[in-house]
Amino acid sequence: MKETAKETSKEKKFMDWFTEILQTAEIYDYRYPVKGCGVWLPYGFKLRELTLKILRELLNETGHSETLFPLLIPENMLQKESEHIAKFEEEVYWVTRGGLNDLKVKYALRPTSETAIYPMFSLWIRSHRDLPVKIYQVVNVFRYETKTTRPIIRVREVMSFKEAHTAHATKEEAEKQVEEAVQIYSKFFDKLALPYLILKRPEWDKFAGAEYSIAFDTIMPNGKRLQIGTIHYLGQTFSKPFEIKYEDVNGQQKYVYQTCYGISGRPIAALIAIHADERGLTLPPNIAPIQAVIIPIYTKENREKVMGYCKEVFSLLKDNGFRVKLDNAEDETPGSKYYKWELRGVPIRVEIGEREVEKSEVTVFRRDKLERRSVKRGEIIGELKKLEKEIHLNLKERAWGKMREKIRLTRTLREVIKTVEEGKIAMAPWCGKNSCIKEIENETGFNVLGTPLNVEPPAENCFNCQKEAEKIIYIGKSY
Ligand code: ZN
Repeated sequence: MKETAKETSKEKKFMDWFTEILQTAEIYDYRYPVKGCGVWLPYGFKLRELTLKILRELLNETGHSETLFPLLIPENMLQKESEHIAKFEEEVYWVTRGGLNDLKVKYALRPTSETAIYPMFSLWIRSHRDLPVKIYQVVNVFRYETKTTRPIIRVREVMSFKEAHTAHATKEEAEKQVEEAVQIYSKFFDKLALPYLILKRPEWDKFAGAEYSIAFDTIMPNGKRLQIGTIHYLGQTFSKPFEIKYEDVNGQQKYVYQTCYGISGRPIAALIAIHADERGLTLPPNIAPIQAVIIPIYTKENREKVMGYCKEVFSLLKDNGFRVKLDNAEDETPGSKYYKWELRGVPIRVEIGEREVEKSEVTVFRRDKLERRSVKRGEIIGELKKLEKEIHLNLKERAWGKMREKIRLTRTLREVIKTVEEGKIAMAPWCGKNSCIKEIENETGFNVLGTPLNVEPPAENCFNCQKEAEKIIYIGKSY
């Protein structure tokens, strides 16, 4: 990609900020001595666990079952589908030795699990009564990234790849599954208060082995697209080489139709970068490891009284299901505690001093708007629950607003180039011919992101060839 010195320094500034905030907010430490690998710290791990819980619930309630497949894939399995291996070949880590012995068949560390899962599908699926199969797993996957690695965003070990794989009797059912996956992922990102575009990828950017790919993209604060989820319609690409067949009602053998979809650790990178402000993280309450932190403000004289009241409020919140922390560290001032928990994005702060005890109330500070107000003791639970909903909604609306500001409608090639060079995403009417957009990727190094689903063609001409437009196309820079 062609990058000016200014862009490189802008990107470096953003990445320095991002790497630093991951570490100071105790999410992720990228200093591990293997390139492209980092460590999830306790606070970050909890955040990861809470987001995982949401996705697990969404998958479970739509009939997916969780499974766990081995990490090692034999070479002959990985190579069974030619398009698939062609694309992944350069990114695979190989295990070639076991102890002191060279292995006869080498093993790949899974870059993705189609070729681990589908040989088993061919054993499990016998009859139409066995269909559909809808499974998922949460595993680490390895990719020998040759591009510059980035903490969480582009790593060599993706530590929680959430991949689903389905098999169906008919094409229609499989395509319905693609629609269900779009619904599930939309709900998931809504729960993270993340804005997204749902785009059908151009032909040359689809998943290796897919008939088509649909992706969820968000736009980072620096204007770059970040892919946060993908859904693939596989048709019979894999069921044929892997012999995944079933007997239909008439006793005929047929190949199944398949889909797969996955989400990496990137949504966490997105939610950190997109919701953060100059003070640090701002986490949506539903996934915040600590939803409310209580800060006591006392002197030597009133310490006992204030702490007693803090403990009562702590128990009240805990008993009502809040993830709450009472920060009773002795050697820190309230001010430095404010700073610490604001940096970590705790959505609600409860401040309690002499005044609050006397008036039987608490002072509540919301992280997203940096606003304070008093709440009567008897109304704490109701008010905090209401506040959590307000914070989520505010973060979501703010993030969607920021994303929309980064997308501009463009009508000519010049406008497209100008827009993307300004760090925005261009949305343009397009004739539908690949040659018109492929040219842009080749000449400018920008990325063609794809076309939105179910959008009426604009009554305008193609930004490039000026013929009648059939679709909308998104173009920008990308991670
Ligand atoms: Zn055109």
